[in-house]
Amino acid sequence: MIKPPPLRNDCFALPAGTHWTPVDEALALLRDRLTPVTAVETLPLDQAVGRVLAKDVSAKRSNPPLPNTAVDGYGFAGPIPDGPHMLSLMAGRAAAGIAFDGVVPAGSALRVLTGAALPDGVDTVILQEDVTADSNQIAFHGPLKKGANARRAGEDVVADEVILSKGRRITPADLALAAATGLSELPMRQMLRVGVLSTGDELVEAGQAAHKVQIYDANRPMLLALLHQMGFVPVDLGRVGDDRDALRARLDCGAAQVDVILTSGGASAGDEDHVSALLRQAGAMQQWRIALKPGRPLALGMWQGTPVFGLPGNPVAALVCTLIFARPAMGLMAGAGWAEPQGFQVPAAFEKRKKPGRREYLRARIRQNRVEIFASEGSGRISGLSWAEGLVEISDEAATIQPGDMVRFIPYASFVM
Ligand code: AMP
Ligand code: MG
Repeated sequence: MIKPPPLRNDCFALPAGTHWTPVDEALALLRDRLTPVTAVETLPLDQAVGRVLAKDVSAKRSNPPLPNTAVDGYGFAGPIPDGPHMLSLMAGRAAAGIAFDGVVPAGSALRVLTGAALPDGVDTVILQEDVTADSNQIAFHGPLKKGANARRAGEDVVADEVILSKGRRITPADLALAAATGLSELPMRQMLRVGVLSTGDELVEAGQAAHKVQIYDANRPMLLALLHQMGFVPVDLGRVGDDRDALRARLDCGAAQVDVILTSGGASAGDEDHVSALLRQAGAMQQWRIALKPGRPLALGMWQGTPVFGLPGNPVAALVCTLIFARPAMGLMAGAGWAEPQGFQVPAAFEKRKKPGRREYLRARIRQNRVEIFASEGSGRISGLSWAEGLVEISDEAATIQPGDMVRFIPYASFVM
């Protein structure tokens, strides 16, 4: 098993200039430059669910493999014209998994049970409820079309047809399809391993004693859980203070065990912004000034060949940047292709005015078929993240939204599928 080549060190370079990069431009850059980084392995079906298919997969056999009956009843050669009919009943029967060894001549019928392969001479079946039968004959009313109540060979899937495409996240139904068409294993990507590291002298682990000037690390439990929901392997890289050596050591340790690192905090250009400082020293850091609210600052860089998303410390911004930027980027690196979240146009239950020049995401939820937004836009308001069930996206242009205007709502669930 070999791994794809690592990403290039300049994969996060932004066009020169000091302007604020529009969200779509930033996303297009990520989309162009990132490639899958995870190795491919063959897995039995029972280990494939939720994971990413590495190659297109074709059916080994048709489904159904032979024509069969869709109901319990009697089989014969169709079509049958309008009016009353009597057919002589042959001895024996065809049942699922047990072929009838013989031919059914014209004018005769055979007892058939659901799923039984149609014997030679049978292409049409009548439901047992529509028949009166004794041991020698059956009587019923026509008409019946040729092929009634029967399934054609390959009507579902034909052998060698592509049944599942590369990049797909395998669902339980996909396992049914793969098994039915003769497959017992699938070529899968190894799961993308994503490290999560919190930075900041003020942070304390949840549950521990905290001085009044300290705050609990809220980002790490959120991001680790989110990554798990997204189908990646979350790796807890812990918490470090605003200390460059400690941070350097932790990034070294993280880069050795994961495919991507998400840090939060310390990503702007201040004195205590050590994530951006270290990435800049490593020579592979870009301060992304993205025209996004909430969002800035975002530091993207490479640490010993491992991409690092330096997310803002504010929990709201950390979550929005993860959903909008890190998630599609990680999807590409995981081999799942670039996925846009599915949004819906819903009438607004709120008013909002916004200037042109940046994209905004508001914490939102749907009640009574209208989308409500959280009362405060403050990026430290964690209660609003929890209150919300998704985001409203307001486009880069100026906007004046009145109640009843249609706005784009993206449920949280759309980001984790
Ligand atoms: P920074 O991006 O480091 O300047 O942090 C911005 C704000 O987010 C500050 O108020 C930090 O205290 C807060 N913050 C940073 N990291 C976390 C975290 N892991 N959990 C909760 N708040 C945080
Ligand atoms: Mg900080």
